Amino acid sequence: MTEQCLFCSIRDNKIQSYKVYEDDYVFAVLDIKPANPGHLLIVPKKHCPVITQLSVNEMAQLFNVARTLMPVVLKVTGAQGANILYSAGPAAGQRSPHAFLNLIPRKENDGVVVSWEPKELDQASFKEMQDKLIRTLSELGKQQQPSQPSEKEKPEVYNVGSKPPRYW
Ligand SMILES: [Zn+2]
Repeated sequence: MTEQCLFCSIRDNKIQSYKVYEDDYVFAVLDIKPANPGHLLIVPKKHCPVITQLSVNEMAQLFNVARTLMPVVLKVTGAQGANILYSAGPAAGQRSPHAFLNLIPRKENDGVVVSWEPKELDQASFKEMQDKLIRTLSELGKQQQPSQPSEKEKPEVYNVGSKPPRYW
């Protein structure tokens, strides 16, 4: 499988690419069909279809490289923001058998669309989903019960402001 894999071939320098970063676990290349100039693909060296197959260390380094590259890409491109985008499975838009992260530098009104229409769900649906997820995680031994706001304290409703904030 790896012989036919584009990213394994890039990793092994069997085809031309624009690599900008490499360590023991991860490399990063410029996407040759970029959403914007500076669009990077951050790729685990190990061939795996989905990132959940990576070890904890490999996964940590994948996101650590994203942490390193994002401010560099913003500085070099003069972008005002960035999306880190990962797609698992064809239903989510995955087209490659080798998993990777997209790091897309963004500017206001750049024409790149990463969006969805929020679905309207009632409280019962949220509660059912929450219970299923918590129960399944507990069965897997993956977590303790998450903390919840008390009924009496009336937690604030999160509100998205109308003016975009600046984070850096
Ligand atoms: Zn591969």
